[in-house]
Amino acid sequence: MFEALVAYRQGKAVYDIPDAITSLHQGVLSQLSGLIFKMVFIGLYVTVFEHYKATAFPADNLLVWILALVFYDFCYYWSHRLYHEVSIFWASHIVHHSSDYYNLSTALRQPSTDWLFGWLFFLPLAVAGVPPDVFIGVGLIDLLYQYWVHTELVGRLGWIDSVLVTPSNHRVHHGKNDYCIDKNYGGIFIIWDRIFGTFEMERADEKIMYGIRTPLHSYNPLWGVVHYYYELWQTARTRPDWRSSLGVLIAPPGGWSEVGLTHLDTTGMVRFRWPTPTSIRWYVVVQYVLSVPFFMHCIAIGDQLSATDLTLYVAFLVVTMQVLGALLNTSRFSVGLELVRTLAVGLGFAMATFWFGDAIPIVLKGVVPVVMVASAAWLMAETRKLKHNS
Ligand SMILES: [Zn+2]
Ligand SMILES: [Zn+2]
Repeated sequence: MFEALVAYRQGKAVYDIPDAITSLHQGVLSQLSGLIFKMVFIGLYVTVFEHYKATAFPADNLLVWILALVFYDFCYYWSHRLYHEVSIFWASHIVHHSSDYYNLSTALRQPSTDWLFGWLFFLPLAVAGVPPDVFIGVGLIDLLYQYWVHTELVGRLGWIDSVLVTPSNHRVHHGKNDYCIDKNYGGIFIIWDRIFGTFEMERADEKIMYGIRTPLHSYNPLWGVVHYYYELWQTARTRPDWRSSLGVLIAPPGGWSEVGLTHLDTTGMVRFRWPTPTSIRWYVVVQYVLSVPFFMHCIAIGDQLSATDLTLYVAFLVVTMQVLGALLNTSRFSVGLELVRTLAVGLGFAMATFWFGDAIPIVLKGVVPVVMVASAAWLMAETRKLKHNS
């Protein structure tokens, strides 16, 4: 919010509401998938640590934490590099790069399917003897550090840009200009890129265009997660035998090629901005804000719910995000679906006594139905007005 205000005062258009909402939706989806799969990943780490550790380092030693963080960041560099340079991994990581914008909300645009392979890259820490608690701690530090670098508002930082991952060198990582492709993979330290030949400084004479070369141009959260898997599947199934199908999955994105990277002319290129009516944009912002307590509640209590309840709760939240995404896409039926959603939530709160294990406070039984019916009424009136004006 603060970044958006500063950008607004500086006259920079670094935010677009549908894009930012989509980033937030991807962040929620990632957290929800984490609820289900993170425990499996941590369980695997603990198993490898218990059976194959070379030694056991003490968790209460600061030096162990520092060395573990450096080792974690080294593994992160290689995992991040492979997530860009192998198609089946890129299909997961592409979510983080699918925005044409670059702001703090982009940092929240996290993948939901990295649990498929992501855990593999960090098992060397378990074998080296980094205790699970330290591993979880340094993983969190590495992830949280990367939040602040997603901004256009911080310029070059001198020598720091050559040592740490910073807004300047991470902007290069998110660029689709020729010189930006497959560069600056570091998490906290950019020195890995300097050692392994993937470092590139931001250029003052070439404006970075962010995003992916085949733009997604959709605010559909689930499609954002699976679209590249679908593309790979479509390519792989047309191959004559299983070997070449497999080749499609492990090839670099775009396929094996003798020809170098095709040139992308970024002059005159503009950022994607779907003409969602302003009133609908702000309507979705309001509905998103109203949904935040549900997202947070589910993430907070998810591991205490039964499998059925968790599935139901996640399904409810996914439907919410899909419908809000459809409204931003101005898809056919999106208004009808939103009316059904608001009225169903209102009716649900008016009639139910419990909400996934917790008694519904009496005040919410009154407020939620009123807000939802008011939302539906406003949306109906606004849609009529928009149709009338067009
Ligand atoms: Zn990346
Ligand atoms: Zn990033």
